Amino acid sequence: MKMEFGFYINGAVMHECKLCLSSVQKLKDPHIIPRSTHKFVKDQSGRNIRFVLPDIKLQLDNQSDLKEYMLCEACELKFSKFENIGITSLKKVWNNYSVKKGYAFSSNEVIDISCLIHSIFWRASVSQLLSNFKLPIEQENLLQTSLNNGDAIQLPNLAIKISLLSNLKLDGYNNQLIISPWREKYVANIYASYFSFYGLLITMFDPGCLSPNHEVGVYLDTTQQSGKVNLADNYEIEIMAGILARMKKQAQ
Ligand SMILES: [Zn+2]
Repeated sequence: MKMEFGFYINGAVMHECKLCLSSVQKLKDPHIIPRSTHKFVKDQSGRNIRFVLPDIKLQLDNQSDLKEYMLCEACELKFSKFENIGITSLKKVWNNYSVKKGYAFSSNEVIDISCLIHSIFWRASVSQLLSNFKLPIEQENLLQTSLNNGDAIQLPNLAIKISLLSNLKLDGYNNQLIISPWREKYVANIYASYFSFYGLLITMFDPGCLSPNHEVGVYLDTTQQSGKVNLADNYEIEIMAGILARMKKQAQ
């Protein structure tokens, strides 16, 4: 599962960090989907049994998580700064969502959640393992610059929507499932990127997907430091049903 490619400078094998592009002797192999998320979907013997990759065949019912050498030490540290709060915040939505009130993130969670989600899409896009998932190059570049500088991406760029899937009634579906990033047509010729964990459908919109006022309140808004989660709408349930059906067919 591990891959590392190197080149030589003065006889020493060097590797390029995919985020800051500096050359280092040793790269770190961060999880593409954070480690604690894998832990949440494993069985008692530690096998990844509820982890699926759309449109790609990789043997995953084993103990190795999806990780790949791509970052220098300093850049791995940049990611760890937002990862803990981001994961803790997203993980608690499933159990704390109220039909009456919905679910709102607190203002100090929003930037970390946004950076975490953007970083997962970026990691997946630059990874060799998930070669089926590739963002348009302008998006990959914007993510790389922002994550490298430690800046949250502002709306309307790469807007994020988070929907709860507790209303998804499908065989074997619960919040203990990871679906790694995939892209799907949103409207006409415009695509959006998706992944799912902790019972949430995370959407990152390509430019052009949003209405002019981009429905602030539904989306994670880093300028206002606000964001809320709604129950998945019919369209999103349909997308999930489609991807799960596709994967079931592939597994046969
Ligand atoms: Zn780096």
